[in-house]
Amino acid sequence: MILISACLAGVPCRYDGKASLADIAQKLVTEKKAIYVCPEVSGGLSIPRDPAEIVGGSGEDVLDGKANVITKCGEDVTEQFINGANHTLQLAKKVGATMVILKENSPSCGSSFIYDGKFQGKKISGDGVTSALLKRHGFQVGSEDDLYE
Ligand code: SF4
Repeated sequence: MILISACLAGVPCRYDGKASLADIAQKLVTEKKAIYVCPEVSGGLSIPRDPAEIVGGSGEDVLDGKANVITKCGEDVTEQFINGANHTLQLAKKVGATMVILKENSPSCGSSFIYDGKFQGKKISGDGVTSALLKRHGFQVGSEDDLYE
C-alpha cells in the first residue's frame, strides 16, 4: 500500500483551502493502491489556515526540540505538526506502507526541500516534520516527482 499526501490526491486540505492535484495520485487512490493522509489536518489544524514554516532548522530539528514550526502570524504550531507526524506514522505502520509519497516543499510533507523559515519563498534542503519522522522509522519517503518516474 502506498501512503500519499491528501492534497496530491485532490483533497483541498492545503493551508489555502486548495489541492495540489497529481492525476496519478488520484488514480492510485481510486484503484485502492494508495490511501491518503494530511498530517497538518490530522494534527489538529484547520482548513484554511495560516501558512507555516520551520524556523531554525529542518523537520529533524523539530523532532529533536531544536527548531519550531511558526505561522506567518507568529503562532507556534509545533505541537500540531508533531501530532500530525505521529498520526501519519501510526497510519503508515497500520497499513504496512511500502512506499510513502508526500508533497514536496511542505513543512510537514517535504522530503528533499522545505522553505527557509523567513516566508520569502526561498527553499532549502531538508525534510518536513512528518517526512523526518517517517524516515527515522525506516520508511522510504518520496515526492510527487517520484510518481512520474
Ligand atoms: Fe498536503 Fe501535506 Fe500540506 Fe496536508 S500537510 S496539505 S497533505 S502538503
